[in-house]
Amino acid sequence: MSDATRENDVEDVVIIGSGPAGWTAAIYAARANLHPLCIVGVPKQNPAPVLPGGQLMLTTEVENYPGFPDGVTGPEMMMMFQKQAERFGTRVKGADVERCDFGERPMALHLSNGETVRTRSVIIATGATANWIGLDNELRLATNGGGVSACAVCDGALPVFRDKPLAVVGGGDTAMEEAAYLTKFASTVHIIHRRDSLRASKTMQDRVLSADNVQMHWNSTVVDVIGEDFITGLVLEDTVTGDRSELPVNGLFVAIGHAPATEFLKESGIAFDDSGYVSLPDGGSSATNLEGVFAAGDVADHVYRQAITAAGMGCRAAIDAERWLAGH
Ligand SMILES: Cc1cc2nc3c(=O)[nH]c(=O)nc-3n(C[C@H](O)[C@H](O)[C@H](O)COP(=O)(O)OP(=O)(O)OC[C@H]3O[C@@H](n4cnc5c(N)ncnc54)[C@H](O)[C@@H]3O)c2cc1C
Repeated sequence: MSDATRENDVEDVVIIGSGPAGWTAAIYAARANLHPLCIVGVPKQNPAPVLPGGQLMLTTEVENYPGFPDGVTGPEMMMMFQKQAERFGTRVKGADVERCDFGERPMALHLSNGETVRTRSVIIATGATANWIGLDNELRLATNGGGVSACAVCDGALPVFRDKPLAVVGGGDTAMEEAAYLTKFASTVHIIHRRDSLRASKTMQDRVLSADNVQMHWNSTVVDVIGEDFITGLVLEDTVTGDRSELPVNGLFVAIGHAPATEFLKESGIAFDDSGYVSLPDGGSSATNLEGVFAAGDVADHVYRQAITAAGMGCRAAIDAERWLAGH
């Protein structure tokens, strides 16, 4: 089946995205003899870099992925994922998918390099990018292990943050979850919020605000991040008076939301949930609302957002695609 269809330039399965979800789907699909094509994306700035390899390309130490007792850097781990996928025959194309015609059979994927790829099934694994404040020094320190992160659950337990004053920016449930997590490690958790009340649920607010080591900074925005190689403080601006002040901190966790990478799916007929993530109507599988189209990783998960959960979803999507192809 596979060889014949590929002779006619129709793929069995195309995986869009090259983070933990995409590469894991590729490993499973390749081992199932589906000869997957992985479309890995192209580097861009948004405002932090978005790179083939995904969100982990922006982090130094990954210490919570099983199998790496001494930790591993994000880029090193993603290189190993890719190598493992290629070892079993995954083919790689360095382009973005710009538009999908899922109504046509075989389906058509239109790429940024002008090519159109035809395929019988698709796994969407394009992830979700963390929103950043957009300050030059914030992005510089976020991309070189300088103590600025968009994931407290991922980085908060690192030794560099132990017993140090840390800051969380944001006022929603995610920000409160990040702050609550950090209270276990920090000397003080400074929560910086641009308004005079939180958007987070009452329960989350109570949990965080009752902690001894939390200090709120209402009506405040971060206008600069201080530190040469590692963060030493923030410049805050009062949104009411315009006054500026310095706050010494040794870690900044930006928790102002994530944006799923779904722009290329507009007009495709794919259904989204209320938060704009790809909807998986049968919660038990990776199937989307469209036949032969599956989704995995952060693009379809606004709850867990971890490399291990993304990889697990990638595995499920490849098995679902294989079974779907066998039945059609
Ligand atoms: C700063 C930071 C640190 C983190 N640290 C950890 C950690 O220590 N441990 C942990 O478990 N998790 C960590 N995470 C979370 C983890 O990175 C994500 O949960 C995981 O990367 C999600 O994997 P994914 O495959 O779903 O998506 P991503 O890793 O986001 O990959 C998506 C891929 O899709 C590509 N893409 C996007 N759009 C297109 C398109 N139109 N066409 C083609 N390709 C496209 C992108 O280039 C990218 O390669 C961290 C996240 C951040 C931001």
